[in-house]
Amino acid sequence: MNLDKLQNWLQENGMDVAYVSSPTTINYFTGFITDPEERIFKLFAFKDAEPFLFCPALNYEEAKASAWDGDVIGYLDSEDPWSKIAEEIKKRTKDYQNWAIEKNGLTVAHYQALHAQFPDSDFSKDLSDFIAHIRLFKTESELVKLRKAGEEADFAFQIGFEALRNGVTERAVVSQIEYQLKLQKGVMQTSFDTIVQAGPNAANPHQGPSMNTVKPNELVLFDLGTMHEGYASDSSRTVAYGEPTDKMREIYEVNRTAQQAAIDAAKPGMTASELDGVARKIITDAGYGEYFIHRLGHGIGMEVHEFPSIANGNDVVLEEGMCFSIEPGIYIPGFAGVRIEDCGVLTKEGFKPFTHTSKELKVLPVKE
Ligand code: MN
Repeated sequence: MNLDKLQNWLQENGMDVAYVSSPTTINYFTGFITDPEERIFKLFAFKDAEPFLFCPALNYEEAKASAWDGDVIGYLDSEDPWSKIAEEIKKRTKDYQNWAIEKNGLTVAHYQALHAQFPDSDFSKDLSDFIAHIRLFKTESELVKLRKAGEEADFAFQIGFEALRNGVTERAVVSQIEYQLKLQKGVMQTSFDTIVQAGPNAANPHQGPSMNTVKPNELVLFDLGTMHEGYASDSSRTVAYGEPTDKMREIYEVNRTAQQAAIDAAKPGMTASELDGVARKIITDAGYGEYFIHRLGHGIGMEVHEFPSIANGNDVVLEEGMCFSIEPGIYIPGFAGVRIEDCGVLTKEGFKPFTHTSKELKVLPVKE
């Protein structure tokens, strides 16, 4: 159980209370997902008392029915959540001197409200690094969800490729992808705003889809993902709509070779920087190094960007169970952009992708 790891950590670090404030981290420890919007939804764990989940009364019944089998304390909009939290904690334990809090993502307003209830307690210890560290290593049940999310991304590519035709806007292609994901796969949420970019637009890697229309003989870049039971997919493919030029084929093949080389090279024991270097060397040797303007990849899990960062200069050693993307890109301003991305898990035998859409350059027929 993930929560045992947290309780052990509290004991080892001489901490009394853990205040878990990010809904994603709460989901990680409890198996309960919700978006509380501006209301208060928190998890409290102790070194030697029973943990409890604190939530709006609106979410009480779903929290009780969720995978979380610990206590749930609800509050009404007419109640002060912070004094209710303080009361609940004092019922459970006399030890609330030393707190570990999730400094990443905690608002100053919430921190001050909590501090006002426990003016003599120490809130200096950060929980964020510990949480990031344990989330690096995925369990088999997490991998099942990541693979499912990957299957949904593969499905989304097929819808997107099919939707390309003369004059269709990037946004219309996005809407087809997201509509069919909901209709056919029951996907509630994408893991980020779906990216479809045609022609020179793809040279701006994170620009959102526009009213730009798809035209023959362009490359079209797709970057998309879904959330599956709290776990994200993230994958990119670039296709040709109509016959590409020789230069388009060339940058595509250089990028594909670089991506495959990094996938083949990924092994436990190497550093993130070394892995980045495998792809970067191929692109640089081909003369396109200046157009590969981002790191090779990022970790993935409950969030679309987690640790480890697969970047030049990051000497973290890659280990079995880590999940991350391998996504080199070549972006030539005013001309075209190519990115090919798979997320996967690192195992003893190497990198096992969660997405399987072919990476041979696909030349789609022009449709009127
Ligand atoms: Mn990515």
